[in-house]
Amino acid sequence: MRSLEQVLTDGIRDIPDYPQAGVVFKDITPLLADHTGFGQVVEALAAAGTDDDGQPIVDKVVGIEARGFILAAPVALALGAGFVPVRKKGKLPAATYEESYALEYGEATIEVHQDAFAPGDRVLVIDDVLATGGTVEACLRLIRRCGAEVLGTAVLLELSFLPGRKRLQGEAVTALVTV
Ligand code: AMP
Repeated sequence: MRSLEQVLTDGIRDIPDYPQAGVVFKDITPLLADHTGFGQVVEALAAAGTDDDGQPIVDKVVGIEARGFILAAPVALALGAGFVPVRKKGKLPAATYEESYALEYGEATIEVHQDAFAPGDRVLVIDDVLATGGTVEACLRLIRRCGAEVLGTAVLLELSFLPGRKRLQGEAVTALVTV
């Protein structure tokens, strides 16, 4: 079996100047198409939602639109937990809470259903890439507004040249690989 590191190296490719000049986009579609590798990655992400004995300790797994959905849903199943989508504004049909955060140019807003969590639910957040940390930070605010408890955040890949980890100081953040 390949190491997790090898799986991530094989499965995440750099697409320069996408979606705009100067950005190197981390494309995870080769990883998603690799059944064995995808399974190893889901297992590694799910470990962030277990205790020292490997027992699941989360009630809900949140996926952040859109690539976070693809990773979080199998993680939720692996942990025996529910899946909750956090979506861009205007996509969720029932009553929502929303949080906005600054982008390099302008602002973004994400939402969650107000009844997505039971009070005190323990939550693991999943996304593909941690860049500036603004998205995860807003997502954690949403979860806490719902009265749920954030146990941690797990991402496939962290961009260490951006201030994501610093911004999320005090939060439990796991990255499977840091570049
Ligand atoms: P941020 O809020 O800056 O941490 O950005 C995180 C969100 O933007 C995640 O949902 C990522 O999917 C996406 N993202 C940011 N930078 C990249 C990148 N270089 N490659 C792929 N996705 C990215």
